[in-house]
Amino acid sequence: MLTKLTVFEAREKIRQKEIKVTELVDSYLENISKKDSEIKAYVTVTDKPAGEEAKKLDNLISETDKPLHGIPMALKDNLCTKGIATTCSSKILENYVPFYNATVVEKLAADGAILLGKTNMDEFAMGSSTENSAFFPTHNPWDKERVPGGSSGGSAAAVAAFEAAFALGSDTGGSIRQPASYCGIVAMKPTYGLVSRYGLIAFASSLDQIGPLTRDVRDCALVMNSICGHDAHDSTSLKTKVPDYLDCLQKETKGLKVGIPKEYMSLGIDPEIKKLVIKALQVMEKNLGVELQEVSLPHTEYALPTYYLIAPAEASSNLARYDGVRYGLHLEGEDLWDSLQKTRSQGFGTEVKRRIMLGTYALSSGYYDAYYLKALKVRTLIKEDFDKAFAKCDLLVTPTTPTAAFKMGEKTLDPLTMYLNDICTIPVNLAGLPAISLPCGYSERLPVGLQIIGPSFSEEKVLQLSYAYEQNKGGIV
Ligand code: GLN
Repeated sequence: MLTKLTVFEAREKIRQKEIKVTELVDSYLENISKKDSEIKAYVTVTDKPAGEEAKKLDNLISETDKPLHGIPMALKDNLCTKGIATTCSSKILENYVPFYNATVVEKLAADGAILLGKTNMDEFAMGSSTENSAFFPTHNPWDKERVPGGSSGGSAAAVAAFEAAFALGSDTGGSIRQPASYCGIVAMKPTYGLVSRYGLIAFASSLDQIGPLTRDVRDCALVMNSICGHDAHDSTSLKTKVPDYLDCLQKETKGLKVGIPKEYMSLGIDPEIKKLVIKALQVMEKNLGVELQEVSLPHTEYALPTYYLIAPAEASSNLARYDGVRYGLHLEGEDLWDSLQKTRSQGFGTEVKRRIMLGTYALSSGYYDAYYLKALKVRTLIKEDFDKAFAKCDLLVTPTTPTAAFKMGEKTLDPLTMYLNDICTIPVNLAGLPAISLPCGYSERLPVGLQIIGPSFSEEKVLQLSYAYEQNKGGIV
């Protein structure tokens, strides 16, 4: 089965001319047509252009040294793709076809990757289950009665169901790590500013980051190599040298200092998950020679309320552009105001409206200081907690999520229980840090994820420990 190959393996086979790009792409398209009616990972499948691109690449033998030559990928539907609908899984953008590519899309295309399609998501990336898509929910490939996580649930399900070799998602509060954890795959949220956000439809601009979802750590490093780097089109993009992330994988982990934040072990974490994380830590200590120590991040309990002020505040401002005048849904009304009201009330779903209202309230005159400004101050305290912890240790290890994948419909009526899902991932976005989620075992036959967090720009170290753990976890997974 060609679709079972990792990105790295497929690329070697293409380079050695053992397989053709067309064969690989066709196997994926076949898998999509067989499985996706049940999984529903894709909003749009770009089968025709993918097939044509594959033929073209098969004829460009001289370019097989491109890092992702002929590798079939899926992109979350909030990444702008020229000439291909980019909907954010929202009615308001249902017919929006961008006239430009996001920078990451350009970079991946330049490295030879082939687009299979755009994946389903929670509308405007607001949610943790992909049930907030305006089109349809996506199902978890491990158990179709359960959610794949969100908001990049389509991307995670596509990779886990072998409907794409890798995918990109976006992570504002956990949206690539949490679905990766629920679907048993690897995903990395890079340091804020390391990957260009140009062409990523904005949710909360000070938190959003694009990252890869892959089947293993080496693939994650490979895709990171392609997407990282400075971009003049994004004012928050950082001018930092991007290393070859494949080079760090084999580095010695002996002596690495790993902190265990005690607050993360008591945040309503399912005892089964806690057990698996402790087991993983023991593997790291025994097999990899890391030194463990308990650390404290005392402001963790404020992360969720802080995030739910800052993210909706930024969203309410970012989403003001959908007025039905320039692009997206336009509904006629008696006058401009009426048309605006109709367009926005029918174009946005319930959760998006809830966030717009929360954000508008938090930013309104008189409440700005009490809510938004205060949240910014607490954000700094959360960031300082991490700084203090990283003065003592190289990396932190936590669960990615408090539970394994939950049943569809289980949390849709209670937004707060849905929000609580992101308790371990949100603080990382508030502090702008890099973090990865990787599989560490199963709880009742459902995959469980482990999160490794590092200081800013420590992607190499995060990948290094992740790879060593993945290679040495023995019989656990
Ligand atoms: N689940 C969180 C939210 O709903 C995070 C979403 C994300 O990371 N895009 O805001």
